Amino acid sequence: SFSSVTHRLLFILDLLASDYPDLRKHNNCMASALSPAIYAKLRDKVTPSNWTLDQCIQTGVDNPGHPFIKTVGCVAGDEESYEVFAELFDPVIKDRHNGYDPRTMKHPTDLDASKITNGMFDEKYVLSSRVRTGRSIRGLSLPPACSRAERREVERVVVTALAGLKGDLAGRYYSLGDMTEKEQQQLIDDHFLFDKPVSPLLTCAFMARDWPDARGIWHNNEKTFLIWVNEEDHTRVISMEKGGNMKRVFERFCSGLKQVEQLIQERGWEFMWNERLGYILTCPSNLGTGLRAGVHVRLPHLSQDPRFSKILDNLRLQKRGTGGVDTAAVGDTFDISNNDRLGKSEVELVQLLIDGVNFLIESEKKLEKGQDITVPDPISQFKK
Ligand code: ADP
Ligand code: MG
Repeated sequence: SFSSVTHRLLFILDLLASDYPDLRKHNNCMASALSPAIYAKLRDKVTPSNWTLDQCIQTGVDNPGHPFIKTVGCVAGDEESYEVFAELFDPVIKDRHNGYDPRTMKHPTDLDASKITNGMFDEKYVLSSRVRTGRSIRGLSLPPACSRAERREVERVVVTALAGLKGDLAGRYYSLGDMTEKEQQQLIDDHFLFDKPVSPLLTCAFMARDWPDARGIWHNNEKTFLIWVNEEDHTRVISMEKGGNMKRVFERFCSGLKQVEQLIQERGWEFMWNERLGYILTCPSNLGTGLRAGVHVRLPHLSQDPRFSKILDNLRLQKRGTGGVDTAAVGDTFDISNNDRLGKSEVELVQLLIDGVNFLIESEKKLEKGQDITVPDPISQFKK
């Protein structure tokens, strides 16, 4: 009868509502985007590999905020998560990437490092330069969702392909399980290797399962070109060196990345990518280019200035501690990097970082001399 159908419906709605997470104290993009209506609509959907909305958002539910950055609060379990749960992910992406609309906009790729200008920083201030991205292997679940077999398959595919790197890029793979505690700690302390799985952002997203199985780092002999395997992404591709030569770091990044892609493709695999979202990675903050170009830079005066945060915001830059995203800054040295990754090309983002850091250094020099500094106008990326 009508009334029993209504009763049943009300019962189902009530059940969904009683499962809705308590997000009242939360300050992440997921908590702003999720509503009871979206939750009710998506709660019982699954991706082809059986990944659910609740699994996507668990890390954001368990981590209301973060002491140093505004977090995203959700992760993808596979490439399809971004489509099946688009009603959540689209507004999160728009919020995180300064107004980029993933339904209507197209993401550009540009790995031509010769276009970069002013790519040499004053080494009195810049201690090291780094560019990283991530790449995911299409057809295998992402780290929050992957089985042990899939994770080992990622490692096999990537390590086999990397053996083809030649010349300055030639190197070898170091499996985490085969390293001594001391070797591992040394690589972490020298800023080459990802941290141990201590971050709640990582553990609450199920990415520390089976640690250290199938995790490791590949690097060339100089340790200037490095590939992390099965941390937050299938792969993280990194170019870095001491000093301020960001242009050279980006040149190596571009040529190395192109070779890695070719070696993967020669073996019949491809990276997850589409024209609206660019390269598909685990965290929505890394969609698009996946690119974080950054420097460790000394800013003793500017970092004490009350306008520091505003200046960074307006330049679309982010600050972290030098031990990585989960560490506080020690003393006057910061990791300064581009905040956005989507809707602008690799070349544009590296140039934005270079221009921004040069502005910070000029401001630091002015403060040293007792002169005043200005807050630059906000860089408007996309309309909100
Ligand atoms: P990612 O975004 O690449 O995961 P994290 O903030 O987690 O970066 O840091 C990973 C490691 O990379 C840390 O050890 C950090 O100190 C190191 N790192 C990041 N940027 C630089 C840089 N410009 N110079 C040297 N090391 C860096
Ligand atoms: Mg990280």
